[in-house]
Order: sequence, then structure tokens, then C-alpha cells
Amino acid sequence: TGGLPVQALRAQFPVLAQRIHGQPLAYLDNAAATQMPLAVQEAMQRFERHDRANIHRGVHTLSQRATDAFEEARATLKRFIGAGTQHELVFTSGTTEALNLVAQGLWAAGPGKAWLRPDDRIIVSGLEHHANLVPWQQAARMSGAELVVLQPDAQGRVHEADLTPLLTPNTRVLALTACANATGERPPYEALLAMARAAGALTVLDAAQAVGHAMPALAELEADFMAFSGHKMYGPMGTGALAGRRDALERLYPLRLGGDMVEWVSYTAAGYAALPARLEGGTPNVAGAVGLAAAARFIDGIGREAIDLHVQALRAQALAGLSALEGVTVLAPHATQASLVSFVARDVHPHDIGTLLDERGIAVRTGHHCAQPLQEHLGLGPTTRASFALYNSHEEVECLIAGVAQALEVMR
Ligand code: PMP
Repeated sequence: TGGLPVQALRAQFPVLAQRIHGQPLAYLDNAAATQMPLAVQEAMQRFERHDRANIHRGVHTLSQRATDAFEEARATLKRFIGAGTQHELVFTSGTTEALNLVAQGLWAAGPGKAWLRPDDRIIVSGLEHHANLVPWQQAARMSGAELVVLQPDAQGRVHEADLTPLLTPNTRVLALTACANATGERPPYEALLAMARAAGALTVLDAAQAVGHAMPALAELEADFMAFSGHKMYGPMGTGALAGRRDALERLYPLRLGGDMVEWVSYTAAGYAALPARLEGGTPNVAGAVGLAAAARFIDGIGREAIDLHVQALRAQALAGLSALEGVTVLAPHATQASLVSFVARDVHPHDIGTLLDERGIAVRTGHHCAQPLQEHLGLGPTTRASFALYNSHEEVECLIAGVAQALEVMR
């Protein structure tokens, strides 16, 4: 199985060693949430057992240790994503919160102060997860800006040439995914971000599906903001971050006002703190941050290139096997860097496929994958999606292909 010692790695993930309906579990829902290795669980437990205290406001030893752990986690994650000296990272509960922090932060300061003004333009790609679309719909409504969609072609590919005519002098934001969770498509985001930034827009990269894989360092991207989640990179659920250029982050009106994000407070006014505290009001998920940093170290211990070679080989195997089944269409078959297959089968509903696969111990996701407009644009409706991680094996992909073949037989 490629170069990865899959069986040895699986020992780090006890959750995988179980039977579902009497069959060995084949966990192929990693684009929704990867499993968490013992190293990450132990790092979180160590914090909870020895160092737990509230941060930033205590002189006592535990509070200082907890503060150190939180700030070390921040530094580890900044290194992991390749942040430069011009960048800062704020912890969030995930990609959704990070993207809301940006979208809302660009209108919430109010008329005359906010980055977004009436008649400005916000561009999102047509590949986006709802988390990178719905907050921009609200930003447009609240600011009076217009929301314009950079549509993919019929195969779900986004083209640089299609962005050019959309970039007007009043374009203030381009928000774009680094990898579409519904299809596995990887848009040419380096070029698209650079074009938008050169045109004066703030640029937002949704890296939820990309951050655990090889990708350019943040310092090499023309991205003002980058959002990601812990639970898609072998880290804890409910964790994530918004990283970005300091000058861009400073433009955001804070989403969470209260303790920890202020310099001084009177009964009538308050002075907000500097970054990163400014955007981290309230008590953060410190164990979560510790776990997220441990996940970054876990990934780097294996190597993102090695992980990618492995999951891309699994994807190629699944693509070949599923495409050979009668009446099965795999979305974005050209997306060779993808770590997932999303497919439709003539006359059979994904829900039935997913249910029959579960009976064989195979976990996949079915539906519109929080990208309903894209599924409609591609004319496909709901799909079945299998997504791969470093602990999946070629045997599991064989089971998937056999399971789908059998499900089609039963349902047709
Ligand atoms: N964007 C993309 C591309 C995603 O895949 C996801 C998770 N499915 C999200 C955003 C939302 O992430 P979260 O649920 O962790 O906030």
C-alpha cells in the first residue's frame, strides 16, 4: 500500500479496530471527519490532567502553563501552515466560525466604517461549501454589496479566464475553496487569489479539505485569510483556526465581544485588544488547541507528500473500480490530486447505497455534502462520497467497490 506502513499506523487509531454489523469497519468518511490518533488524544489528556486552568489572566502556575500550552499550539500551527512574520492565527471552533468571523467582520462595524459598502462586489466560486457561501449572502444583505458567483464549467472546473470579467474596481472580496468537499475539485487557487488581490480585493481561502495535504505555504499565497478545521486533519472536533495577514485581520470587527478581547472597559465603552486576543473573546478551547497542534505534529511526522501519494492511489483505485460499474458516474474524474470519490448511480438513490454499505461495515457519506447549489449546477443531485485517509487500505477500497456493485444489484 504505497509507502505508508498502514497496518502500523492503524494501531494509533483504536476506533478502527471494531466490527460494524459483524464486518470489519472500513471508515471512508474522512472528508467529513478523520479519526484521531492516540498521540493527539494523549496530548489533550496530558493537558487536562496536569495543566488545566484558564489562560491569560492568572499569575498562578497552572494558568501560566495553560497559557504557554495555548501559545505554543498557536506557534506550532503557524509553522504547520507556513505562516510568515506578517501573519497571525486565531483559534476558532472550525472553518465555519473562521469564515463567519471574516464575512461578518467585514460588515459588522457598520456603515462608513466597514470594509464592505453598498454596491461593492463579493465573489465566491460556485464550488463552495455552504460555510463559504451563506455568510457571504448575509454580508451582501447587510452591507448592500452584490454577491457574484464564479461558476465552474459543466465538469466542475473553475477557470482563471472566467474570473477576469468579474473583477471590477469595486470588487472587495474573493472567497474560494482550496478543494471542493463535494467533488474533490482543486481550483487553481494560487492564480485566482493573486488576480483578485492585485485587483484590490481581500482574498479568503477555505482550506478545510486541503490543510492536511501538501499545499503551498501561506506565506507564498496571495491569501489575506485562510480557514481550516481540526477534525479534518486528525485533530479534535470543534477546533480550527483563522490565519491571515495581520493588516487584513485587523480590518475585522470582532465577532465575540467580552472578556479577554479588551484593553480597558468602562460602563459605556471599551478599547479592544491587539491581535490575536482581539478576535478570541471568551475562554477558548485550550485542550482543543493543544490537540490541534499535536495533530499537526502527527501529520508532519508522517509527511504530507507521503500521505497524499497514499490517498491519491486509493482514490485512483476507487475511481477505476466504480467507473467500471454500469451506470455509475464519478464527479470530477480529472481531479488527480483528490482524496475522495463522489459518484451517482443511475436509478439508485445514494441513501440506499449508503445504507447497504453500512450493513457491510463501510462508512460513506450521502447527500448534497453542504454544497447544494453546486450539485444543482452540475445537474446531479445527491451523491455518494467515499473519502480516504492515511489509515485506509487498498483492501478497504476493494470492499467499497464490491459493496457498491452489490448494492446496485439489489436495488435495480
Ligand atoms: N469548507 C469545506 C470545504 C468543508 O469541507 C467543510 C466541512 N465539511 C467546511 C467548510 C465546514 O467545516 P466545519 O464544519 O469544520 O466548520
